[in-house]
Amino acid sequence: MSAPNPDRPRVLILGGGFAGLGAARKLAKADAEVILVDSHDYHTFQPMLYQVATALIETSEVAHPLRDLFHDQPNAAVHQAAATAIDLERRRVEFDQMAAIDYDCLVLGIGARVSFFGVEGAAEHGLPMYTLSDALQLKQHVLRRWEAADRDPSLVEDGALHVVVVGGGPTGVESIGALAELYHSDFAKDYPTLPAAEARLTLVEAAPTLFTMFEPELQEYARETLEGWGVEVLLSEVVSSVTPTRVTLKSGRELKSHTLVWGAGLQAHPLAESLGVELEHGNRIPVGPDLSLGSHPEVFVVGDVAWITDTKTGDVLPQLGSVALQSGERAGENIARRLTGKQTEPFSYHDKGTMATIGPGAAVIQLPRGRTLKGRTAFLAWGAVHLALLSTGEDRTKAMLNWTWAGFTHERQSRTVVGAGEES
Ligand SMILES: Cc1cc2nc3c(=O)[nH]c(=O)nc-3n(C[C@H](O)[C@H](O)[C@H](O)COP(=O)(O)OP(=O)(O)OC[C@H]3O[C@@H](n4cnc5c(N)ncnc54)[C@H](O)[C@@H]3O)c2cc1C
Repeated sequence: MSAPNPDRPRVLILGGGFAGLGAARKLAKADAEVILVDSHDYHTFQPMLYQVATALIETSEVAHPLRDLFHDQPNAAVHQAAATAIDLERRRVEFDQMAAIDYDCLVLGIGARVSFFGVEGAAEHGLPMYTLSDALQLKQHVLRRWEAADRDPSLVEDGALHVVVVGGGPTGVESIGALAELYHSDFAKDYPTLPAAEARLTLVEAAPTLFTMFEPELQEYARETLEGWGVEVLLSEVVSSVTPTRVTLKSGRELKSHTLVWGAGLQAHPLAESLGVELEHGNRIPVGPDLSLGSHPEVFVVGDVAWITDTKTGDVLPQLGSVALQSGERAGENIARRLTGKQTEPFSYHDKGTMATIGPGAAVIQLPRGRTLKGRTAFLAWGAVHLALLSTGEDRTKAMLNWTWAGFTHERQSRTVVGAGEES
């Protein structure tokens, strides 16, 4: 058991995502011992997981070693372990492979999990898109289906090359857009003998439009762009069951498909349920204006796991990288203020616009005062905003070079399957 040093308060940060990193950085100059614990030894840059899943970039470009990010922060230590229980009364966190840690202040930034909404077979056979392992699993699955069809072309008729993506929000749209590019730019050349027309891509959305959070003009643009790339967009349709080779819709239609990508919903990390506080929609933890937990002001909850109400608009903030980073930073600043006897300050989100990519050269942006952008300009703006979210200057340079290179060449050098678990 590791107890805090009475001379120096201990801030324990759970999660090294945008939120946890934001908090840790803002505590760099605080007279405190900062401990960041994550179940992985790397920070994941989720907005570029699609590019990993579709072989455009390598794993190392979205996963940055956490320890590397703290070389210049002497008051911080990093450990790899998964938190298994939080005792708010005793101010103690337990871990799977490490002694428990007592804290003076806790920052909870453990993110969310994919929710399959209890759809029959979805958890067993669907491929989620939330973590780096998910992205690698999807890439390997798709590559293996194409190789299998190459060996036995009769599989094509059975749906081996047909990918169904569930969810018309940013995750679903970006996934299918990236797959469309992979199918058209590389697979058509890699597998010239396979019937390209049979390699279908279908997007299924329960609502009558894609991108429900955007203006109708942008929703329409997203649908037309995808359809222009050969994607079949099924609106007002709901998936009712999934098997390894079939996707059945509530309307009764059956799709022959060996690949179902689940981009339809999130719920907060399961640890949220163990806190004994009343949770909001998606099991997110509600916080006060300064991001602390009402009943425990020494606990701050940030990022995807938190239910944060914008102090300016009264709206609940979405689960986005920019919200996670800014809320983490505010929590770090508030802890630093408390440590010097100052009052905490309310969190105010600086909204640079809601944005999503559809695919290469196509994106949509809704700016705060109702203005909208779409197409190539929006795509470049998306790139600029997301480059700023990358962990280090080195990462930004690498990403810039790779995007530019990929934009010119469309080369996907990482479309290979390496490792255990190969299907027979
Ligand atoms: C495919 C995809 C694309 C996206 N694209 C965009 C985009 O274009 N723009 C945008 O703004 N947002 C985007 N988002 C959303 C954005 O990435 C998230 O809102 C953001 O990453 C949330 O940050 P976070 O720090 O709250 O959580 P996370 O980034 O999920 O970090 C949580 C961390 O906690 C760790 N952890 C989990 N459980 C434990 C445990 N028990 N113990 C210790 N550590 C634990 C995890 O390993 C992880 O490192 C995208 C998300 C996805 C999945």
